[in-house]
Amino acid sequence: METTNSVIFSCPECNQQVEVHAKAAILNTLNLYHEESVPKPIAETIIGNTVYCPKCGDRFTVMLDTHSATVPLFLRKG
Ligand SMILES: [Zn+2]
Repeated sequence: METTNSVIFSCPECNQQVEVHAKAAILNTLNLYHEESVPKPIAETIIGNTVYCPKCGDRFTVMLDTHSATVPLFLRKG
C-alpha cells in the first residue's frame, strides 16, 4: 500500500512550516516527519529538491545537514 510521506521543515527566513512530499512509500503508520528525524529512504527522495516557502516566497534546496549536532553511531563487531 502506498502512503504519502511528508517532511516538515521550518523556513530559515521566516520560520513558516513548509511541508515537502516524499515519493518513497515505507510501511509505517507514521507518515509525517520533522526535518530533524527523517528516515533514510524518505530523505533520499527529497534531498536536492527545490522548496518554495509559501509565506516569504524564498527558494530553498533540501540538504543533508552534515553539521548536525547529533549523529547516529553504532557498534560494529570486530
Ligand atoms: Zn519563509
